[in-house]
Order: sequence, then structure tokens, then C-alpha cells
Amino acid sequence: MALPSLTRVFELLLERFGSQSWWPADDTFEMMVGAVLTQNTAWRNVELSIAALKEAQVMTPLALHRLEHQELQVLIRSSGFFQRKSQCLKNLAAVICRDYQGRVDSFLGGDLHAVRQRLLDQPGIGPETADCMVLYGAGLPIFVVDAYTRRIFSRLGLLDAKARYDMVQRYAMQHLPADTSLFNEFHALLVELGKVCCRSRNPRCEACPLNQHCRSAFSR
Ligand code: SF4
Repeated sequence: MALPSLTRVFELLLERFGSQSWWPADDTFEMMVGAVLTQNTAWRNVELSIAALKEAQVMTPLALHRLEHQELQVLIRSSGFFQRKSQCLKNLAAVICRDYQGRVDSFLGGDLHAVRQRLLDQPGIGPETADCMVLYGAGLPIFVVDAYTRRIFSRLGLLDAKARYDMVQRYAMQHLPADTSLFNEFHALLVELGKVCCRSRNPRCEACPLNQHCRSAFSR
């Protein structure tokens, strides 16, 4: 079986699931907060934390900067790892307030490499979180890799399941045009496929829009 092109994969996913309209947030700072909170937890848990932060009226860099660690931990408890995540958020808020006059757009300003490195320099922010912020926050074209991406790409036969983050990202960016809208939608669609069909156990290959192009579907 010939390997599918990533463009074809994207087309099939979009046809099946439609536009996902990511990232679900009212503004860029909320998007960044969500990207930190969603580390190692389901989005439904993050939604509870975001609602609590909004209810407490602290969803701004300045308000988070002024908030006590312990108060923040209570508000984001539903997202798990709340001590580590509160430190990460407090640091982000402090840097934005101290070095960028509280302006999120300034913090995320510059070329792709500079913004990505600035984010990676912050404690608690790894490649996936940084790339989410680069793509969905700064609006710059970078391909986000997550567990769903690795699983789907490896099952399709495109990459080894143990391929490193940067290898998966490089593969995608070498096979797709550098287009923010495309990367935005593609990542969201892969997440949807991973939840609906390409689950870690008992994938629903019979319902998958990629099943005619997937090596794993034919070997089950
Ligand atoms: S056909 Fe099955 S294994 Fe292949 S991508 Fe779809 S759900 Fe995953």
C-alpha cells in the first residue's frame, strides 16, 4: 500500500470532521493559560479551571501576577499537577508584566524562531506547549506534535512510533506548506481523530476516514 500524502490525510479528516475552530479561548492569554493547564490532562478538566479563573476575574497577566500561589493552585486544581502548573503560570505572568509591560502580543512578538525560543526558556514550557502558543497564540506557522499525532502517523506507516518530537515535526513541515491556517486545522483534526477513532486501545478503524490508506488498519 502506498503511503498517503499529508495533504490527502488533511483533506480526508477535514471532509469527515469539518473545521474545528481552534483554539477554544476568548483571547490570547487565555489560550496560553489553557496550553499550560492541558499538559497531561483532559480538556474537560482544563475547562473547569478556566471557568474558575474567569469567575475570580484573574484571567489577565497582571491579575495572575498579583495572585498568591496558593490561591492560584486552588483555582486550577481540576487540571492536576497544580503546583507545577501554578509556578509555570506565575512565571509567565511575571515575565509578561515585568519585561513586556503586561502585553501578551509583545511577549509573542518577533519571528518564529525567536518566539519559540523565548517560550522554551520559560520553566514548565516544553516543545508541545511552546508550539501550541506559537501557532494558536502568535499565529505563526509551526506544526504541533502531540501523542495523537505520533500514534496516527506511526499507525499510518509514516513514521516510527518512537520518533522524537523534532523528527515528527520536521517530517510534517517538510511535507506541508508553511501555512498557519493549515497547521491550526490539521492539529485540531488529528486530536479529533485520536479521540473518535484512533484511540490507543481498540481503535475504530471501520469508522476511520483514513482506513483505506492506513497500514495498521489492514494488519488488524
Ligand atoms: S485506520 Fe485505524 S489505526 Fe489507522 S488511523 Fe484510522 S483508526 Fe488509526
